[in-house]
Amino acid sequence: MSEHIGSAISVDHLTRRFGTGEDRLTAVDDVSLTIAAGAVVALTGPSGSGKSTLLHLIGAIEQPDEGSVTVDDVVVSDLRRAALARYRQRVGFVFQRYHLLPALTVLDNVIAPVLPRRGRADHATRARELLDAVGLAGRERALPAQLSGGQQQRVAIARALMGAPGLLLADEPTGNLDSTTGGQILDLLLDLRDRHGMTILLATHEQAIAARCDRLVRLTDGHVTEDLDLTDGEDPADTYERAARLRL
Ligand code: ADP
Ligand code: MG
Repeated sequence: MSEHIGSAISVDHLTRRFGTGEDRLTAVDDVSLTIAAGAVVALTGPSGSGKSTLLHLIGAIEQPDEGSVTVDDVVVSDLRRAALARYRQRVGFVFQRYHLLPALTVLDNVIAPVLPRRGRADHATRARELLDAVGLAGRERALPAQLSGGQQQRVAIARALMGAPGLLLADEPTGNLDSTTGGQILDLLLDLRDRHGMTILLATHEQAIAARCDRLVRLTDGHVTEDLDLTDGEDPADTYERAARLRL
């Protein structure tokens, strides 16, 4: 059993608009969702359907116009200043384009976000353990440009785990990778969830990735238009059955 089970999330009547006048657009439109602690949820839908905006609202990178986000009984959409900064430190983010700092080594990329808190040496041991956990032991001194795309995404995942997050938000984490490498990144995320008990919300428009998650939530024009439980109490590794159900 894992030491903790991850964050439980409640999204209630969440709405986020952009622009004014004729350009006004509702990116997330009255979305309500309850996500169990430890679930791996695929957020799917076409480009522009509101996946990234919903992740940003849950991660408190953006504030809603209406509605609320509650994570482990904390209403994060109400947090301000120090409490908001503390919450953001406890959420891990992974992006499609990795966002590594090119001049820093792999090890220093993993440590960089937590550096203001205590010194480098205090964090190096944990960073090495995480690099080991994502399969990059021995590459600590490499520069990002010396790694493949899949390896760079592994560094980004290790960096996201430095704050021991209960919630990992991943925005198209396999979108820049070929399907084999993308599948390996999903293997890693599922394994980390099993061992460390995080809740993972993953935006993707790849059906093969979504089919392996516990739940599929589809957005269309900012609305939830489909919400499928893909577990049915089955062996989570049984991807064939899931793919068949999704008619892949
Ligand atoms: P997805 O991630 O599903 O592609 P997004 O959440 O990025 O969708 O975008 C949803 C809609 O909101 C799109 O129409 C997009 O153009 C718009 N949008 C997103 N962010 C902004 C922004 N900062 N300013 C204006 N419009 C935005
Ligand atoms: Mg997006």
